[in-house]
Amino acid sequence: MTNVYNFSAGPAVLPKEVLQQAAAEMLDWHGSGMSVMEMSHRGPEFMSIYRAAEADLRELLAVPANYKILFMQGGGLSQNAVVPMNLIGTPGRTVDFVHTGSWSGKSLKEAARYATVNVAASSQADGFSGVPAQESWKLTKDAAYVHICTNETIDGVEYNFTPTVQGDVPLVADMSSHILSRPVDVSKYGVIFGGAQKNIGPAGVTVVIIREDLLGKALPITPSAMNFQTVAEHESMFNTPPTYGIYIAGLVFQWLKRQGGVAAMEKRNIEKAELLYAALDADDFYQNRVAKEYRSRMNIPFYLRDESKNEAFLAGAKARGLLQLKGHKSVGGMRASIYNAMPIEGVQALVDYLNEFAGR
Ligand code: PMP
Repeated sequence: MTNVYNFSAGPAVLPKEVLQQAAAEMLDWHGSGMSVMEMSHRGPEFMSIYRAAEADLRELLAVPANYKILFMQGGGLSQNAVVPMNLIGTPGRTVDFVHTGSWSGKSLKEAARYATVNVAASSQADGFSGVPAQESWKLTKDAAYVHICTNETIDGVEYNFTPTVQGDVPLVADMSSHILSRPVDVSKYGVIFGGAQKNIGPAGVTVVIIREDLLGKALPITPSAMNFQTVAEHESMFNTPPTYGIYIAGLVFQWLKRQGGVAAMEKRNIEKAELLYAALDADDFYQNRVAKEYRSRMNIPFYLRDESKNEAFLAGAKARGLLQLKGHKSVGGMRASIYNAMPIEGVQALVDYLNEFAGR
């Protein structure tokens, strides 16, 4: 097997130990004689896997007791519709959005199908190079919720603060691409959601963390399987959940606990990000266009000063086993995603290549 480092934005690298354990248990999970894929979702074997995954995630993020954790399907994009359907209560109610890049942009467009969208702040005019200061946000007093994307996967912009929202307006955060990369004060949010395929596990699982008092407000048009209250009442088993994905997510949670949890992960993620940004900033051969204080630790877009060298850069990277560095098609350039499962050795290998390619 060749040794590679995978910088994909998602589906993304998973811890090797997790994949090895899954491979060892593939045909016979804990002497059950069954693969996890073959188990009834309501049987005692899978329920034990599910409950351990839920409890481990709760522990890792210190999720308070008055929050439900739901394992859903449909990914982050589905949540862009599922969240307004579940939270606005009355069709057309106003929701506030902070537009900081491609993903919050998609979210607000989808929400506008159900709600009246107020863009409370936007960094679009600055090329999505940061997060608008909270003092400049023009929030609606009685909004159904305020939506933010705390890590913009394409633009490489990450919140370095937790916004405070007035009154009892819930804060909704799309944390798809940095959940579990740093501690988070869950109690400051009404809803946190994220697709699993970056920092949690395989595509197909969508994690939703929701404060209990926000359940039970779904519009009548909400599909039952997407009604947060219904899903919560059935312990994510209203319909068949993505069982194998939940199992792998559970193994990732155990791995994270062995690494020392999210505080330990944050330390490593800071170290990895600093190493990479230092190489990009060393001279103007490469460029990252995000304001320093809002640079993402997870997704690092960069451009070659001479874009005619892009193909040569990618070919050289591939030859060295540095994979999936091509930037998102909407913004071009390069992007290195360095999630929890990317070891510092992978970042160092990329830095060595960046220096070599720049002729340093
Ligand atoms: N939100 C963010 C921040 C993302 O990075 C992505 C996927 N890259 C999505 C939403 C969409 O997720 P999905 O493809 O799972 O619907």
